[in-house]
Amino acid sequence: MTRKGILFIISGPSGVGKGTIKDAVLAKITDMEVSISATTREPRSGETDGRDYFFVDEDQFRQLIDNDELLEWANVYNNMYGTPRQFVEEKLTRGQDVILEIDIQGAFQVKARKPEGAFIFIAPPSMEELSLRLATRGKDTPQSIKLRLAACKWEMEQVRHYDYMVLNHELKTAVDTVCAIITAERCKVKNFNLERDMIDSSFNQGPNGSST
Ligand code: 5GP
Repeated sequence: MTRKGILFIISGPSGVGKGTIKDAVLAKITDMEVSISATTREPRSGETDGRDYFFVDEDQFRQLIDNDELLEWANVYNNMYGTPRQFVEEKLTRGQDVILEIDIQGAFQVKARKPEGAFIFIAPPSMEELSLRLATRGKDTPQSIKLRLAACKWEMEQVRHYDYMVLNHELKTAVDTVCAIITAERCKVKNFNLERDMIDSSFNQGPNGSST
């Protein structure tokens, strides 16, 4: 019995811990493909081109958009980010699962193109905790923290468009919850190739061995 590839979208407000959760999930669930985004932002220290992101300039990014090579793209805090379309399509067609970690604007575009995906919203336990996290992760200036917190209210309201909400109160619990969601999605009947696999197979029999 084979299964269709499932597209998992991990999304949520900036600073909520999406990247950390995704990495921890990938350490536990190995039969999962991860999409590497293209971005115009500068690499941070320790980041590698082709592993963390495909680092491109604005002209190259524009070219990707014009050639319809991106499944979705968005301007996130003054940098462009996008998901290469071909990688995702190829893996899904082969029945492999793919995980994307993207912002909320991007998730809406994926929903329009692939509504059958599993949309997981990672939420902060509170604004206070998010504020503390943004301040301590050392990536943002006070101005940029202010901007991210201001955006968070609208972002939280978007949770209604998702299938799942996972509170990132404690990392281990959040990771276990996302893994449980992945397991449940993989068991959904609609995700099996029932029509294809039941033809000419031993499943093609009635309860008493009669042909169905
Ligand atoms: P960072 O620059 O910290 O790696 O990522 C900044 C934000 O961009 C995060 O919220 C991350 O989820 C989002 N992001 C990363 N890749 C993509 C992508 O391909 N598309 C969209 N829409 N957002 C992305």
